[in-house]
Amino acid sequence: MSDEDLSPETWTAQGLHFADRVTGAVVPSISPSTTFARDDQYRLLSASHSYARDENPGFEVAEQMLTRLEGGASALLFSSGMAAAMSVIQTLQPGDHIVAPKVMYWGLRNWLLKFCNRWGIDISVYDSTVPDELARTVKAGRTKLVWIETPCNPTWDVVDIGEAARIAHDAGARLAVDSTVPTPVLTRPIEHGADIVMHSATKYLNGHGDVVAGALVTAQEDEQWARIREVRAEGGAILGSFEAWLLQRGMRTLFIRVGKASASALRIAEHFENHRQLERVLYPGLPSHPGYDIARRQMRGGFGGMLSLRVKGGEEAALLVAKRCRVFIRATSLGGVESLIEHRYSIEGPSSPIPKDLLRLSIGIESVDDLIADLEQALS
Ligand code: PLP
Repeated sequence: MSDEDLSPETWTAQGLHFADRVTGAVVPSISPSTTFARDDQYRLLSASHSYARDENPGFEVAEQMLTRLEGGASALLFSSGMAAAMSVIQTLQPGDHIVAPKVMYWGLRNWLLKFCNRWGIDISVYDSTVPDELARTVKAGRTKLVWIETPCNPTWDVVDIGEAARIAHDAGARLAVDSTVPTPVLTRPIEHGADIVMHSATKYLNGHGDVVAGALVTAQEDEQWARIREVRAEGGAILGSFEAWLLQRGMRTLFIRVGKASASALRIAEHFENHRQLERVLYPGLPSHPGYDIARRQMRGGFGGMLSLRVKGGEEAALLVAKRCRVFIRATSLGGVESLIEHRYSIEGPSSPIPKDLLRLSIGIESVDDLIADLEQALS
């Protein structure tokens, strides 16, 4: 059986069938060295390693797994999801135009608006729920980058990646996709025409709430990718050796974690859809969700582990539900093995476009019956 015949679940669980050529260890070692020796002719002992800010052998397993999982040409790890996203933006020039959605990870949206303003980059924000708005927002010949997030945080609206890629490419721009929420288990943006895929690896890729990390995967090794490599090497937003090691360990269980979280999220969404205390359940796996049809085409094997509840009675009622939870942990972030409940508006503050009655749930891998019972008692 050739490697190509094996399913991604198999080679991800095995860390790409890893075996150390010297020791035979089936788990890679942590690689803390910051510098790499040369021979008496001053040649590097290993052609690819000179100094750890440029390349660290401890990144290789996770970067190779990601490249293959996303069907890309190359991947780079970063010190955070934000550092990964910023590296893409830092390849732009003053005067370039970029397009980003109104609803997206708020930290990145806020930074983008500030940075673009200061650096003379023209930014337009579009509403991804309005048909044709992206097509009307790009400027042919001037837009260099279209940024999308799908399903997007925390309404889980779904953006058609193929359509966004067509619009971006027709205008002469690249398409970058924040694919943190679906992970390559459920969506592979490059297959739909994306040029760059970004992950907050802090979330599902690592999955255990103990590493802050980011990653980019490119569809092609081109000039922009070379510039992104330079931004990482020169700026030094690299992952620590121990964190890179934890990340490759976490990734080995990616399929089983995302599969379980997705199945549980769907059960919870269906269970609470018509609950008397709720205005709405927002989950792209529900036929009532506006993104359902695109999600069915674009996502494979599930709709993800994230959903939001809009609670009848507004902010006060939503905060009360969060307060009463005993199994869900009240905390920000997502994609870990433990289920989290979060009042997004309290986190984002007064400039937030997020409804005050919205509670965001990140579903973990606990018993789904316990999670349902916890929400039932909190809503009662
Ligand atoms: N993208 C999404 C969808 C996120 O949820 C986050 C963090 O919450 C980020 C990007 C930023 O990633 P990090 O916190 O790893 O910098």
